[in-house]
Order: sequence, then structure tokens, then C-alpha cells
Amino acid sequence: MAGLSLKYIRKSYGDVRAVENVSLDFTDGGLTALLGPSGCGKTTLLRMIAGLEDPSAGSISLGGRDITRLPAHKRKFGMVFQSFALFPHLNVSDNVSYALTIAGTPRGQAAARARELLDLVQLSAFAERRIGELSGGQRQRVAIARALAQEPDVFLLDEPMSALDAKLREDMQVELRQLQQRLGITTIVVTHDQHEAMTMADSIVVMSQGRVEQMGTPQAIYHHPENAFVADFIGKANFFDGVTEGGNVRIGQHLLQVTPPANFIDGSPVRMAVRPEKAMLAGADDGNRLPAKVTFVRDVGPVQDIHLDTPIGRMIVSDSESGQPLRVGDALQVTLPADAIHVFPRLSDQAAA
Ligand code: ATP
Repeated sequence: MAGLSLKYIRKSYGDVRAVENVSLDFTDGGLTALLGPSGCGKTTLLRMIAGLEDPSAGSISLGGRDITRLPAHKRKFGMVFQSFALFPHLNVSDNVSYALTIAGTPRGQAAARARELLDLVQLSAFAERRIGELSGGQRQRVAIARALAQEPDVFLLDEPMSALDAKLREDMQVELRQLQQRLGITTIVVTHDQHEAMTMADSIVVMSQGRVEQMGTPQAIYHHPENAFVADFIGKANFFDGVTEGGNVRIGQHLLQVTPPANFIDGSPVRMAVRPEKAMLAGADDGNRLPAKVTFVRDVGPVQDIHLDTPIGRMIVSDSESGQPLRVGDALQVTLPADAIHVFPRLSDQAAA
């Protein structure tokens, strides 16, 4: 069972509108990441799904049943939070079986389930250890095993990797994803880390200021951002402000071809985005060729980030192919392929660059 669905969910704290009109259908058996900058409302949304906060408006349903007002302990949702909140006085096995024992499961049966789960998270050898004797990554796996003990319908995690160092975090992302896929459990992970979301998720919900900006696969969100916020938040992008002219974009003297044509009336203010790896230093002349001057070169192994001054503004080009040694002050040509240009309406509160 899953079929978790949110309809017009809102949450206000006094004047603060933490979540505004969010409607989402979560993929059964999939992992969805709620991604966005600090304060965008992702934790509040997760807490409402968990039943730890009441929505100010809207409804939450599971398998067609309205659970909006169902208390957290009746939801059968597994949860892992930033601080794993394990019981320090219990050993690993008892931490995992605790909820089962409290719910009245016979001790032997609860212990057997704990063994099964510790096996799943590769901690069988640590069953008797105290929590204080574990590393951060091991604690996190105990928290995951504990959350899975009652075979939850939905698995919720809030920044589960934030206490771990960078290397361990990457390993745990892969481990958690593999475990989730093996179990096929509908999972929602809150994160502000786009790499974490890209590594683990089937589907990413990008949030800003309490709203959903876009929901889609990591690939769709990266390659087809629906607005400038998403293009900026996911991956890197060069931005340029201009106005539309015959489906193309005019920036000063330069008319840049875009494919498909920008569908706005002439003279509309737009913001154009180009990914650094899509701009080319030695591309075909398709009309979007610009003279450029190198202002900075950052060599990071397989990729060079080349900072350029061009007549339409500054940009960064990530070049993994040319191999040509470039120096500050070098003059060259840069090509922006017409189909690599994303065009978004420029809102009135976005000043022209
Ligand atoms: P972070 O990544 O920093 O945890 P977030 O995206 O999870 O941020 P929330 O914690 O959901 O954001 O907060 C959303 C907004 O609601 C913020 O402006 C926050 O200050 C506000 N907020 C959250 N909880 C409360 C509360 N209990 N009382 C008042 N305001 C709150």
C-alpha cells in the first residue's frame, strides 16, 4: 500500500507562510527528494506528512484514505531525523526492537526482527554494542533499521546524512538508495544538497519559499528546468538578461538564436540560462558565436572552468575536451548552441543584469 498524495497543503505560523498550496502525488515504491534552500518549507512539509504538524489547510491521503488528522503514531510511517535520536542506554539490537516491544510484540519475535534488520543494514556484528561505541555512519544505519522495524507504509528521512562527513555521506547515499530499492518502500528524503538528491532520487521536488517550483526526474530537472530558480539551484548556469525578438533573444547588439523559439511577444523581458558544459570554445558557427577574453582559468583535473568576458556578459565555460592551454588575457570565440539556451520570463522583481 502507498498512494501518498497531498492536496493544496498549506502551513502558516502567524505571519510566516511556511508551505503554500502544495499538491503532490508520490511515486509508489520510489524515492522522492524534497530539495530546496534553507527555510523553503521542506521540513515543515515532511512533518505534516508524518503527522507531527497539522496543516493549516489542505488534505493528505494514503491509499485513498484521508489521513490529514490521523496522529503520527497511527500512521505507520518510519522516520529518521537529522539527529538520529537513538537511546544511548540501550544496545544496538534493543534500539532497533524498541518500538516493537513497546507495541507488544513478544521479546523473542522482536529480537528476531532486529537481527533481520541489522543484517539488512550490515550491522549484525554490532548488535550488542552500545550506541556510544559506534561511528556516525553506523549510528545512522541503526536509526534506519529502527525506523524500518515496524514495516512502515512510508519511510521519511529529514537530512539523514547531515551529521556525516563528506566521504561517508556519499557512501551512505548509495547504501540507502540500494536498501530502499531492495525494499521497494515509498520514501521521502528532505535535503538541501542537490548531489544527494540527484544520487538517490527517482523524483525531485524543488521547493522555494513554501512553493513547489518543479517536480521531475533528476535528468528532467537538470536538462529542462522550468524556471530560472530551478536552473540556478540545480547545477550551474550562466544567466543573461535580454528581450525577445522574433522568437530569439536580443542582448544589446547581439541577437541570439534559440531553439525552440522563445514563445513570448516581442520585447518581453527574459532571462537566458546556459549550462557551463554546453557552451563551446570551438563550436560550429550557428549564429551564437561571440568574441571572448579569458579572465580566469580553474583547472580541476579532467575539467577546466574558463571564465570569460563577452559582449553579452561574463560566463563560465566548463571544457573537458579542447585540452588547449589557455591563459588569462587570451582572446577566443565562444559558441552558445541554440538548443542549449533556456529562456525564462524575467519577473518584475528581477533587475536586468
Ligand atoms: P532548513 O533546511 O533550514 O531546515 P526548511 O526548508 O526545512 O529549512 P522549514 O524548517 O520547513 O524550512 O521552515 C520553513 C519556514 O517556516 C521558515 O521561515 C521557518 O522559520 C518557519 N518555521 C518553521 N517552523 C516554525 C515554527 N514552529 N514557528 C514559526 N515559524 C516556523
